[in-house]
Amino acid sequence: MFIRHFIDGVFVDSASEGWFSNTNPATGAAISQVARGEAADVERAVAAARRALHGPWSQMTLASRLDLLEAVADGIMARFEEFLEAEIADTGKPRRFASQVDIPRGAANFRAFASLGRGAASESFLSDTPDGLGAINYVLREPLGVVGVISPWNLPLLLLTWKVAPALACGNTVVVKPSEETPTSAALLAEVMNAVGVPPGVYNVVQGFGPNGAGEALVRHAQVAAITFTGESRTGTAIMEAAAPSLKSLSFELGGKNAAVVFADADFDKAIEGTLRSVFSNCGQVCLCSERVYVERPIFDRFVETLAERARALKLGDPREQSTEMGPLISAAHRDKVLGYFALAEAEGARVVCGGRAATLDGELSAGSFVEPTIWTGLGEQARCVREEIFGPVCHIQPFDSEEQAVQMANDSDYGLCAAIWTQDLSRAHRLAAQMQVGIVWINSWFLRDLRTPFGGVKRSGIGREGGRHSLDFYAELKNVCVKL
Ligand code: NAD
Repeated sequence: MFIRHFIDGVFVDSASEGWFSNTNPATGAAISQVARGEAADVERAVAAARRALHGPWSQMTLASRLDLLEAVADGIMARFEEFLEAEIADTGKPRRFASQVDIPRGAANFRAFASLGRGAASESFLSDTPDGLGAINYVLREPLGVVGVISPWNLPLLLLTWKVAPALACGNTVVVKPSEETPTSAALLAEVMNAVGVPPGVYNVVQGFGPNGAGEALVRHAQVAAITFTGESRTGTAIMEAAAPSLKSLSFELGGKNAAVVFADADFDKAIEGTLRSVFSNCGQVCLCSERVYVERPIFDRFVETLAERARALKLGDPREQSTEMGPLISAAHRDKVLGYFALAEAEGARVVCGGRAATLDGELSAGSFVEPTIWTGLGEQARCVREEIFGPVCHIQPFDSEEQAVQMANDSDYGLCAAIWTQDLSRAHRLAAQMQVGIVWINSWFLRDLRTPFGGVKRSGIGREGGRHSLDFYAELKNVCVKL
């Protein structure tokens, strides 16, 4: 299979005619050849996006534009199985996760922002003037222009559409650079865009790599008005540097080293269930996953043993099987990085409660990038394994003796994306929620998302908020109009 760029409504090869290989991480087999985009391809895509921005897209009424976004959502659902197979093959994520999370959310993103676009209000103020007659101020929302969307591999369709949908709802056109690990769903989405009648040039995809490739060229392009990026914090730094000369708007959703805090008064079974999900979902490759778990001392031993028992029982296997609970990591390179942390944890003095090694499966899965679900205890809070984002199926569990100590340890991180708090004491829950240095706090839950809420991180976990009207604010230029009466 060949995956090409999508520029101006057609699939095209790279100007350089370069290709790279896309691998299925469950088997190690090459599954497609992907066009390797460079600056010349980005140039073509931005030119097409500019033509569409000033042409057909701007001439559509808001209502018909938003109707098209609804049609895109329907188009994704109509090809649910194809999107599902593509996401499973590119990422190795289990069918049950992708079918419940990735694909439905891909469609839901378009519906949510079509609806938000319809309901978007504008501020207005009546102002005093020296002559006593006053003035009315109101706000117009205008497109930013061509928006560059750079997305990661862990939730490919979900995170791409999370940015494309609001950008289009606000009247922008987009050039998307999907992760080089997961090129397929962005190309399938291009087919849906064409099928439902999104004008050529509104949605463009340039495949390829980041540094010195399509990603960097997109960031540096003077006619790209904004970059919305999800990925690693250090990539955020590189993008900010490269974007500086052209002074673009930037929205960053970055890494995490998230804490789960479990109090002795929590509903034990629910806390175990929730923490099992928050540590091991998508093989630990969700930015919101918990890698640090703090458990109040009276239930510490029981919690560690129960969670380990559940982790050992997780069914590793072929991601295409409905019964599989954990698939491989995204690539052999990422598996080696995670195994490096497994070795480091032991060197740092961890007690390995379960897992800690590569997992070897049979048959065609024997070349897959599988590792065991892993739990550590006994590390100090300054250990690298407790401070650095690993992005694998692993957590460290630490006991605590007081609420103050739990807050202090949870907040002692360079990151601040989310936290999960498990307690039945509601006053304590609210008290802790206010003290957590993060963008999102879940009380007695995890990854429960309402797309109208602000989403983002503090510290090294991000800059800005997307979600609901916060997305509409990022993807629009707000113009104040002052009318003297
Ligand atoms: P990554 O930063 O390596 O890559 C993300 C994207 O950026 C890819 O498309 C890549 O090609 C591109 N890129 C890389 N270097 C670039 C450069 N110099 N210029 C332009 N583009 C460049 O991240 P990843 O490994 O794909 O994803 C995993 C990371 O994403 C983790 O750190 C995870 O926590 C984070 N993440 C955050 C959120 C969030 O909402 N905060 C969500 C998902 C993932």
